[in-house]
Amino acid sequence: MTLSKQEMLNKSYFFESEQTLDDGIEEKVMQMFASCNQVSSLEKQIDEITDQISQDFLSTIDSNTNIDLDSLLERFSDSKIPVQPTNFETYLKYIGNNVVAHSIHTSSPRFIGHMTSALPSFVRPLAKLMTAMNQNAVKIETAKSLSFFEREALAMLHRQIYNLSEGFYTQHIQNNLSTLGILVSGGTVANITALWCARNAALGPKDGFLGVEKEGLAAALDFYGYKGAVIIGSDLMHYSFDKAADLMSIGIQGLIRIPADCNNRINLPALRQTVAECRQQNLLIIAIVGVAGTTDSGGVDSLKDIAEIAQEANVHFHVDAAWGGPLIFSEQYRHKLAGIEKADSVTIDGHKQLYLPMGIGMVFFRDPYLASSIEKQASYTMRKGSFDLGKRALEGSRPGMALLLHAGLKLIGLKGYEFLIDEGIRKTQYMAACISAMPEFELLAEPDTNLLIYRYIPEQFRGLVAKKALTDIDNEIINNVNESLQKNQRQIGHTFISRTIKKNINFGNDNPVVAMRAVIANPLTTEEDIQAVLNDQIQIAAKISI
Ligand SMILES: *Cc1c(COP(=O)(O)O)cnc(C)c1O
Repeated sequence: MTLSKQEMLNKSYFFESEQTLDDGIEEKVMQMFASCNQVSSLEKQIDEITDQISQDFLSTIDSNTNIDLDSLLERFSDSKIPVQPTNFETYLKYIGNNVVAHSIHTSSPRFIGHMTSALPSFVRPLAKLMTAMNQNAVKIETAKSLSFFEREALAMLHRQIYNLSEGFYTQHIQNNLSTLGILVSGGTVANITALWCARNAALGPKDGFLGVEKEGLAAALDFYGYKGAVIIGSDLMHYSFDKAADLMSIGIQGLIRIPADCNNRINLPALRQTVAECRQQNLLIIAIVGVAGTTDSGGVDSLKDIAEIAQEANVHFHVDAAWGGPLIFSEQYRHKLAGIEKADSVTIDGHKQLYLPMGIGMVFFRDPYLASSIEKQASYTMRKGSFDLGKRALEGSRPGMALLLHAGLKLIGLKGYEFLIDEGIRKTQYMAACISAMPEFELLAEPDTNLLIYRYIPEQFRGLVAKKALTDIDNEIINNVNESLQKNQRQIGHTFISRTIKKNINFGNDNPVVAMRAVIANPLTTEEDIQAVLNDQIQIAAKISI
């Protein structure tokens, strides 16, 4: 027996309560699905309200309101779904006042402490189009043209990284056996995917052994005669590598973190020695990781040297360029990434320095067949020989983010991205110069890219800093002041700088130094904004008692 829609809606198990429903419920719900070409459609009404909310949000200069977290969590403590549909206007007002109002203005020119910043205006209407199309990029049957469109966008970036021959791109761009890159939700999934491919390729099927993919890690290590498996990189590797090591069953102890030098780069002699030791101990090195733009301070490893070490050891070389990858667009600064073209895999985040919305990460492969080591099939979809993107990916259902990625590359272009990258670095150098000239601050390292590490120095210590005569106790007091300063600044909400902990660079010992961390990527940030942020810090710091 099939129930009518009304009967289904009325069945008491459909809603939790025994209450009888409004007669208008079907109409109310069906109206929500009405097409937007109906003049008086709900969508148009909602659009008007959300456009207003969004404009107000985007034009706010303060980085956030000063509401405290306790009163926020109180506002969101209702765990019941309403029985009846809520009135739209009431609800939108509620979101505006409670969620949007107290959200972080990541696009504010004075929010210069994290890797999330302003977006170009074209992404907002395109995101709406993407949602309207509601493609599922997992397979051709739910994303037809978009699958090829996505491959094209990934090929463009692959070419920018590896610059292989015209013939290479003609052959692989739309070849269903090839994978130039995978579009994922972020740098974390990109890094995990890269290492997953590296592991499966290193422990693949051989002489009747079915490979790590089918038989698991213990059997694979046993078959190949290894005592264990490791991943090697610097201690500034992003914590997504801990997740990768955990998921791949090598354990976080299998992730070898080599101390970075004072320039935030992996110590190369220590890397060489570790590689030699692992080989002596019969450990499989799944990959050596180079970081292009550490999350913490923007440092770039010497990728060329790591590439050489990896090549000599015949080990997969992965570059985590989630943050720094877009430096390849800059004539002036791309030399910092020299050697990236030798990487077997590269991670780049679109939602960082490609100025695209959250939810765009990518991994690229030098060998277009490497990702076949993770390929999966299902009888109802993902058939062998199909163009289904989901067969070589960690994620399943996934939105048509390619629409935004492709648009960014086409609408901003090489020259546009070059301008954005160069501007960020120019303004970071401007900020570094301001800080060096101000007695209130100490620059903790010359910026490598567009991240800047510095700290506030309370008045009584300024002379000692100049003479490099701070004691460990002085340093601890300064640490406490900087911690309070950053927390107070964040709470007040006019401007924002983040905070990290660095080893004590000036003392040559390992005492921790609480550091301010500026990230200058927002094209709307001006020199005046930078001064305003520093002045805000000076004013807040003056009120901190020591
Ligand atoms: C941001 C970042 C990641 C993680 O990327 P998500 O997009 O946050 O998952 C990994 N590595 C580096 C160097 C990053 O900057």
